[in-house]
Amino acid sequence: MKTPVKTMLALIVLLAAFLTVPSPAGAVRGGKLIALTFDDGPGKPTEGLLDGLRERGIRATFFMLGNCAESYPNTVARAYREGHQIANHSWSHANLITLTGREVTEEFRRTNAVLTKNSGGAGDFFARVPYGNVNDTVRSAVEMPIIGWTIDPLDWKYRNAETVRQNIVSAAFDGAIILVHDIHPTSVDGALRAVDDLTAAGYEFVTVRELFRRRGIELQNGVVYRSAPPNGNDPGPIGPPVLSESIVNGKLTVTLSAEKGTEIWCTLDGSDPILNGWKYTAPFEAWAGITVRAAAAVSRNGSKSGEISVTLSNPRAEPPVMAVKNGQLILESAAPELYYTTDGSPADRNGIRYEGPVDLEPGTVIRACASGAQYLDSEETRGWFSGRGRFFRDVDPGDWFAEAVDAVVGARWLQGTGNDCFSPATTLFRGQLVTILYRMAGKPELTETVSFPDVSEMDYFRDAAQWAVSNGIAACGGDGSFIPGGTVTRETLAGMLYRYFVLEGTVPDRADAVRFKDEDEIDPAFREAVDAVRSMGILIGDTEGYFKPKSMLTRSETAVILNRLLSR
Ligand code: ZN
Repeated sequence: MKTPVKTMLALIVLLAAFLTVPSPAGAVRGGKLIALTFDDGPGKPTEGLLDGLRERGIRATFFMLGNCAESYPNTVARAYREGHQIANHSWSHANLITLTGREVTEEFRRTNAVLTKNSGGAGDFFARVPYGNVNDTVRSAVEMPIIGWTIDPLDWKYRNAETVRQNIVSAAFDGAIILVHDIHPTSVDGALRAVDDLTAAGYEFVTVRELFRRRGIELQNGVVYRSAPPNGNDPGPIGPPVLSESIVNGKLTVTLSAEKGTEIWCTLDGSDPILNGWKYTAPFEAWAGITVRAAAAVSRNGSKSGEISVTLSNPRAEPPVMAVKNGQLILESAAPELYYTTDGSPADRNGIRYEGPVDLEPGTVIRACASGAQYLDSEETRGWFSGRGRFFRDVDPGDWFAEAVDAVVGARWLQGTGNDCFSPATTLFRGQLVTILYRMAGKPELTETVSFPDVSEMDYFRDAAQWAVSNGIAACGGDGSFIPGGTVTRETLAGMLYRYFVLEGTVPDRADAVRFKDEDEIDPAFREAVDAVRSMGILIGDTEGYFKPKSMLTRSETAVILNRLLSR
């Protein structure tokens, strides 16, 4: 039962990973960043440029002229759709320092309006002034950050792709802004060749907005920025949102989270969250089968994460809590439906519907799950109502130690560890062992008082420790300490049992001379004890003839050994 559930979960995780769009290639914190910008378009060569950028998984920034954006609405829309930053290069490419402030403002305002309309929603623009000409009037009239450049390959002059490539590559540095014009085919060709060279040289191409964000620089309106060299800051690429499903008041609820400082955009109709999404503000109700697409963004125009696309399944119910009281099975769960089986078959919603306490026959394995319309069946809860009418949540009748555990717990020689558990794999401690021996002896009255620096009056093993030490069953440390938390190995157990049998007067006169393969590892001090308990059939070697004197005893092994004593 466990395996198919786990496999299914793994599959869902795997699918989610495949559906997540990875960050752009080479996106590493602290890497070399560079921004490629295209001016004076869009134009005829722009579509080919977008093809080339898409093939390479590169995002660029397009400083568009308003009048060109009006002529190429589909190209503007495509550039935005494909994740590039849309930016403003004025309406008419006028020399702005010859214009009045009001005229400058109008050049950019008109262009912003066309860019927003033709892109299908881009906003939050940056500006670039034609010819790089700027004065105080322009600075105050632009009302956006002004982006200059640091690498100018003079592509408009040379009109030679190879020259453009060389001029870009030879001048490249971490944090540079490259200026190219996407109205010349040679410029587009040269820029793409430079992209290949610089990518191979370890550069990560980012939009202008990402360049400054990754360097921790907040841009101000009317200020000119030309580059962003490394300065020790780099928050790294924006991580995609994380989606979690839960049941809130019986409804399937989706919660999204993302990095601080980002907004989450999402859609439920399968469309692009950045282009068509709504801004996530709070967990929302959804239903199984629906696909949530989401991306985190600092700005939807040029600064966003990869995308997640998750088709919702019903969440898994929490496993039920199982208990047995007065021979009746009790199941509890927050999920509305509970199912169980008592014939050993797996529990799922085809099992018996639980409506209230159920009488159990001794020797029954109970398997149960929680379920309900909104949930996937939970993982199973198992329990064993033993032949002696004891309930164990961590012992199965198929376990090699099951009968022994049931018997020794029934004889009150060993107790459970609370919460209906036996903890079979837990190791045994000296305090527990002397308590078992003391119980086996019938808790005789103490004949003398022994005190230990490490045993208090409150310790449950106090009487047992006194009895064991005063009867020579257990030894003390050099300072008289009892070391109740000390572990018990097979040979030390042999020693204590032997001395217990001596006290009881049941030690055989002669021990057999069978030898173990690991005979030499037995401490000579325990030699006689090991021989005696082996010949009594209490502590025998494993099927291959090893005694394993130094191996620590688990509670399950202890139960099996005690059960041999019990059935003597
Ligand atoms: Zn220009």
